[in-house]
Amino acid sequence: MSPSNRPSRPLIVTIDGPAGAGKTTVSKLLAKQLGYRYLDTGALYRGVAVAARQAGVSPEDDAGLEVLCRSIKLDLIPQEEGLRLLLNGDDITALIRTPQISMLASAVSARPVVRAFLMSTQRDLAARKGVVAEGRDMGTVVFPEAEAKFFLDADAQIRARRRYEELNGTAEAPSLASVEGQMRQRDRNDATRAVAPLQPAADAIRIDSTHLSLAQVVERMLLHIHRIA
Ligand code: C5P
Repeated sequence: MSPSNRPSRPLIVTIDGPAGAGKTTVSKLLAKQLGYRYLDTGALYRGVAVAARQAGVSPEDDAGLEVLCRSIKLDLIPQEEGLRLLLNGDDITALIRTPQISMLASAVSARPVVRAFLMSTQRDLAARKGVVAEGRDMGTVVFPEAEAKFFLDADAQIRARRRYEELNGTAEAPSLASVEGQMRQRDRNDATRAVAPLQPAADAIRIDSTHLSLAQVVERMLLHIHRIA
């Protein structure tokens, strides 16, 4: 943490955008630079997906999802190596990044009952300001009052390649073509759903990371944040 980068007052910073745009890396770096907490809201949707799969609840079953959401507790625990996700006290961090859970997270995230459940979880987690919140609807729905909003995007092929490289070497490593196909499908689901679709907030600063390093993206964000606080 570099205290000289800490703004004069604590803010809520939001970073929205499609899969593979670099949000996670950028959010972590930015939070570190600012001395802020990092809130990975995609991990929470992935946690609901894991819970639904374990309980055998289909993403189309709203009544089942409602009962499920009432019975689960999700916690994000910051640790040196990154956030750990607990589901009812069990560490499920290692389960949430598979392509299957990515698609299931996208499916459950379209259901209003799931979004309503996670709305309060997310707002509770950011009750104390000084947070960088990453997701799809941070600047539009969950934290419309946030002082600094960014929408991070990149060319779809570049995003697919970045995600492919992340997954490469894991047991279930898919081909580049299948990563790109699933990513496009997930973006379509996220951008066309009726509730909280993926879209930039009217007051968000849009950054295209296709030709930028993620360090350059963070630099731009820091410049903006120090201009306003
Ligand atoms: O960011 P990540 O890829 O981990 O998110 C997984 C899925 O969770 C996304 O594809 C999206 O469907 C959903 N999500 C969401 N709203 C958020 C964060 C994630 O709908 N704020």
